[in-house]
Amino acid sequence: MRILLTGSAGFVGSHLTERFLQGGHEVIGVDNYISGQRDNTALFLGQPGFSFVEADVSQGIPDPGGRLDWVLHFASPASPPHYQQFPIETLMVGAQGTQNALELARAHGAKFFLASTSEVYGDPHVHPQPESYWGHVNPNGLRSCYDEAKRYAEAITMAYHRHHGVDTRIIRIFNTYGPRMRPDDGRVITNFMHQALRGDALTVYGDGSQTRSFQYVTDLVEGIVRLMDVEDHEPVNLGNPVEFTMLELVGVLQDVLGRPLTTLREPIPHDDPRQRKPDITRARTLLGWEPVVPLSDGLRRTIAAATAHDGTVAATPARA
Ligand code: NAD
Ligand code: UDP
Repeated sequence: MRILLTGSAGFVGSHLTERFLQGGHEVIGVDNYISGQRDNTALFLGQPGFSFVEADVSQGIPDPGGRLDWVLHFASPASPPHYQQFPIETLMVGAQGTQNALELARAHGAKFFLASTSEVYGDPHVHPQPESYWGHVNPNGLRSCYDEAKRYAEAITMAYHRHHGVDTRIIRIFNTYGPRMRPDDGRVITNFMHQALRGDALTVYGDGSQTRSFQYVTDLVEGIVRLMDVEDHEPVNLGNPVEFTMLELVGVLQDVLGRPLTTLREPIPHDDPRQRKPDITRARTLLGWEPVVPLSDGLRRTIAAATAHDGTVAATPARA
């Protein structure tokens, strides 16, 4: 397959690129590095089948010419500190960026794949969250630049499917982690891991009773690859259904590192969802998929990669 992937220099984009190149496919990566890493492009430059274009996909996606089988739209800041630092750019990449990617797919008769998010459920009143739940989202709060952009992205994807017949897929990704996350991305696994490795206290926001469900990146990639093979246009949750409070996450990290960790309480951010856990019945049925990497194993692998990289541990970014 010949695949154009927006957001190729990001965390998830780099793992997708790796998987597709290993499968003998061609990947044209597009990224403007607003939240990505040049190192993630450097990993693949020179490998057969990989090429890269530096561009802001909200402004337009350079047409690579030739045949395109897939356009995968993964470009968007994803961590709360990143998207709150770049709220307009985040809205634009979810809106104009998605339309540009859809137009490119349409022009080439290519299939289109959208990376949406569990944030479309907002601070959910239904738990766990099935795809049929419409969500509970603050339309103008601090997270709205991301949540509403993704909700619009889903809407325009379905409009291109229904109105123009584009063959589309939509996934809703739940908190995913693994090697090659930006050390300063501010997400909880990155913060806790680097704080622990530095010997600093772990910054627990609020009382630490809020929950998340953490998916290791290879499980996500497997779900994506399987959905590419199935013609189904409705959204599919991809996430690990095992739920942890943030204090339980501290406990798991403590066990993995084999030493006690200290914590520091910080205020809970605005509109921080109280709970989040995917209902993955649809992915199980449709794709025969479920996550196989438990949190402790995934943390071990992520820590090994972070410390193998250069031995140094990044500072935790200041909060917005
Ligand atoms: P990331 O920030 O590491 O990667 C996103 C990439 O998109 C970055 O390389 C960034 O530079 C690029 N990008 C952003 N705006 C762009 C633009 N206008 N033009 C070109 N490139 C642009 O984030 P990630 O965790 O790899 O997330 C990838 C996708 O998956 C995002 O769409 C995100 O919303 C979605 N997602 C991720 C998670 C997660 O837990 N990692 C959860 C839900 C959804
Ligand atoms: N969180 C925390 N300490 C941190 C970073 C995040 O306690 O240093 C909490 C945050 O309040 C949220 C959860 O961890 O409840 C997940 O946050 P993250 O930014 O990783 O993702 P999201 O909120 O988008 O799910």
